[in-house]
Amino acid sequence: MDNLLKRTHYCGELREKNIGETVVVNGWVAKSRSLGQGLIFADIRDRSGIVQVVFGDGSPEEVVAKAASLRSEYSIGVKGVVRERESKNSKIETGSIEIVAEELSIYSESETPPIYIRDDDNVSGDLRLKYRYLDLRKPVMQNTLAIRNKMYHVIRNFFYENGFIEIETPLLAKPTPEGSRDFLVPSRVNPGKFYALPQSPQQFKQLLMIAGFDRYIQIAKCLRDEDLRADRQPEFTQIDIEMSYVDQEDILAVQEQFLKTLFKEMKGIDIQLPLPRLTWDEAMNRFGSDKPDLRFGFELHDLAPAVKDCSFKVFTDALASGGKVMGIDLDGCSDKFSRKDVDKMTESIKVFGAKGMVWLRVEKDEIKSSVSKFFSQEELRKIADVFNAKENDLILIVSGPKEIVWSSLGFLRRDTASKLGMLDPNEYKLLWVVDFPMFEWSDEENRFMAMHHPFTSPKKEDIHYLETGELDKIYADAYDIVINGYEAGGGSIRIHDSGLQKKIFEVLKLTDEDIQNRFGFFIDAFKYGAPPHGGLAYGLDRLCMLICGTDDIRQVIAFPKNQNAQCVMSDAPTTVETKDLDLLSIEVKKAEK
Ligand code: ASP
Repeated sequence: MDNLLKRTHYCGELREKNIGETVVVNGWVAKSRSLGQGLIFADIRDRSGIVQVVFGDGSPEEVVAKAASLRSEYSIGVKGVVRERESKNSKIETGSIEIVAEELSIYSESETPPIYIRDDDNVSGDLRLKYRYLDLRKPVMQNTLAIRNKMYHVIRNFFYENGFIEIETPLLAKPTPEGSRDFLVPSRVNPGKFYALPQSPQQFKQLLMIAGFDRYIQIAKCLRDEDLRADRQPEFTQIDIEMSYVDQEDILAVQEQFLKTLFKEMKGIDIQLPLPRLTWDEAMNRFGSDKPDLRFGFELHDLAPAVKDCSFKVFTDALASGGKVMGIDLDGCSDKFSRKDVDKMTESIKVFGAKGMVWLRVEKDEIKSSVSKFFSQEELRKIADVFNAKENDLILIVSGPKEIVWSSLGFLRRDTASKLGMLDPNEYKLLWVVDFPMFEWSDEENRFMAMHHPFTSPKKEDIHYLETGELDKIYADAYDIVINGYEAGGGSIRIHDSGLQKKIFEVLKLTDEDIQNRFGFFIDAFKYGAPPHGGLAYGLDRLCMLICGTDDIRQVIAFPKNQNAQCVMSDAPTTVETKDLDLLSIEVKKAEK
């Protein structure tokens, strides 16, 4: 192998001030081109950027001869003298200088790479993931992971300076009650028994409060066996936090300071405090979402007063059965959506259970509508007036059970804003959504479930509804931090009274045996002086994604899984040999493709 040339500089840091210096850079050949007559130019890339190297024009002959063999992605070292470039390139930061090579070491050659190492390479996602180590050479990926690295520093510094202590909690654990499916790990030394990989360190961090650590933080890996989406991965990282002797205000105050610091350090942005807050009810009624994107308007309006006496049965039936009739006004945008676009919108909300969508187009002298048969102009005007609608407004209306109305309009609100190019990734709108309902009904389970998790404290003033069984009236001391339509984090004040905890388990229809098996150790701990406590967790990947201005979570994770939860590079998960399964006392019933 050629000699190792010890690096003196990263490629991207060389500037005019280095002119005349002898330097050594190490990196990959991004590009090389021979101009003939013993003159070869090569761009060398490392994690900091690119620099141009000249072979010829003073380089020893054997170095020029060797440089003729250079191809893309060869791993090399170059020693040479920095000089001013004749034709400067203002597009790259090192564009006013170049290195005239004196020595060249080829550490290893490269086959033609299967993907282009270029930011604008738009090859399929799976191919990028298969050759992730090459994909990661792209400047954008190097930059993203450097941003992520800086985030770790900002996070750890902030919490360290504020008296938090970082403690690692186990990966081999018991099932956690975050409401997703667990990844299970068989125990060889305890045949037939399984660990669950933690969906979050929830119970451990609460136990750390009981243990007296008072202010805890961990950058923690969490694992959830869920169906994947663009902003979700089976393993992800949380900034996990818990504090003792605090109420909700104390927690939000510390977190606001943290978020302010994070955005200042990462983006140079001054976030105005206190952050706006919406109650969950308000968020749903105004934005149709518990994670509203506040970068644009299109707020939901209740149309019940305007349509309650109309002759359109779909609306009056919805109201009669306790549902809602609500709409959004895409103001000034009617001409931007064709008939076909509107049909597509109607189609797109069927997944939320919507049976249809009504539209109104406000024109100069009349209001056109998909339901003009059932409404006089005057009645349509009454609807339009709810929005203060003007010419060229497009009003979209959905009716039915409130959950369907909210989710449909919440989706349409954001989807249309996105289509209209209103989502500026460089604008950040942060807010707290507070006062979540404590429980939500699950048709699947045929019982109420904890909306956050069962350790969340109900609001004091609502606790009496536990006795009357009016569970839907109980709100919780639970809060989410929402950024640009994403749930960036969430948490709650916890129950620290074992009697109340027991009561909550009861209404969740957990039997004593269940409770004992699943949470026995946890409940026991509360017998020994549990301090009032609460906390939250941020999705670090999501925060990083927002800070990087991307909406694909895989962009900010070095080795992510694909949509089928596979690592296409290493081919995990894989089948294992029967003898290994035997050791674990496991038999595979059927291996589905
Ligand atoms: N453990 C919760 C979660 O993962 C966060 C919290 O309540 O602190 O969502």
